[in-house]
Amino acid sequence: MSNNRIENVSVHVLPVLPYADNALAPVISANTISFHYGKHHKTYVDNLNKLVAGTEFAGLPLEEIIAQTVGKEDKTAIFNNAAQAWNHTFYWSSLTPNGGGQPPAVLKQKIEASFGTMDACKKELTAAATTQFGSGWVWLVQDGDKLKVVKTGNADSPLTKGMKPLLTIDVWEHAYYLDYQNRRADYVNAVIDKLINWSFAANNLS
Ligand code: MN
Repeated sequence: MSNNRIENVSVHVLPVLPYADNALAPVISANTISFHYGKHHKTYVDNLNKLVAGTEFAGLPLEEIIAQTVGKEDKTAIFNNAAQAWNHTFYWSSLTPNGGGQPPAVLKQKIEASFGTMDACKKELTAAATTQFGSGWVWLVQDGDKLKVVKTGNADSPLTKGMKPLLTIDVWEHAYYLDYQNRRADYVNAVIDKLINWSFAANNLS
């Protein structure tokens, strides 16, 4: 996360995409990326910068802003934009061209210990995605010794529930509607089969 302090103005920066905008096609088109990264993600970052300017949150990293604003009714806008900025950066890193396949051994062992099989883990990810009502996120997290699949609504994050995110899939309609219309399960299955970055998830294990 970029967070540079310049003359008391906190400037959160839209991180560079870790691949070209057409590198995830045909699973996720360059058109989707142009709106999702170029408009939605950028707007969260821009709005956050406007909201925190001149407040006690100026100059704080995203994780700190998220921790300090979660559940506070008068800070909802700051929480939502900070969490969405964090979630999107984490999502882009959770995907990679030519992803999918088998996880590194260290992660595969932990998945099999927690879910039984790789397939069972993938099925839980798909089930969580299709049962998340409305906008939200699906996550593979580390919770103590166990790995779990959890879902969060809107901007919410497992970070605020004491869990360590390993990877995420964005299931807001803006993530898939241009390519899949209402077929969220098709989008999630294609992401898991072809784009999911198991190495990134393995590197997030603690
Ligand atoms: Mn999104």
